[in-house]
Amino acid sequence: MRFSKLRLTGFKSFVDPTDLIIGDGLTGVVGPNGCGKSNLLEALRWVMGETRAKAMRGGGMEDVIFAGTTSRSARNFAEVNLLIDNSDRLAPSGFNEADQLEIVRRITRDVGSAYKSNGKDVRARDVQMLFADASTGAHSPALVRQGQISELINAKPKARRRILEEAAGISGLYQRRHEAELK
Ligand code: ATP
Ligand code: MG
Repeated sequence: MRFSKLRLTGFKSFVDPTDLIIGDGLTGVVGPNGCGKSNLLEALRWVMGETRAKAMRGGGMEDVIFAGTTSRSARNFAEVNLLIDNSDRLAPSGFNEADQLEIVRRITRDVGSAYKSNGKDVRARDVQMLFADASTGAHSPALVRQGQISELINAKPKARRRILEEAAGISGLYQRRHEAELK
């Protein structure tokens, strides 16, 4: 599986449909402060099923919708399309019928998020599992947020341990143990 294109529509600062072509090898994004580089990475994490508003630098999930500027009015929905080259057919069953997968997430004000896979409605969980099985996903340690490294260096030992546990993917085990202890 290989990401080949990301399209943002009404997502954060990308009000008009904008394509990011992801070719072979390394893709770099350069531009002045505030031009939207981090927003691109957030779009990638969001379409893979991110549910934490804080990870999207927002107070609520609807904050990803273009909020308007002095010259452009706010939008009612945000959409991100992720094209995946699946010619190696490594996508898990249920997703693996096609050479190309298109995952779409759309959030509409006062309605919430909906996901599609090659045009068919799917659940958030299906999309999250697709990427979890492919060892990527919204919480993957492969996606390093801006400031995350200095957060790690400056964190107190307990907080640093939490960050490392999240990266190692074991924080869910603590959650489950905590729930078990309550029972
Ligand atoms: P830096 O180089 O400083 O890291 P950057 O290229 O990563 O900058 P981003 O943080 O991706 O920039 O983009 C920030 C811009 O996105 C800001 O101008 C902010 O106003 C805009 N923005 C964020 N959310 C929205 C939204 N919902 N609607 C409109 N614009 C938004
Ligand atoms: Mg940035």
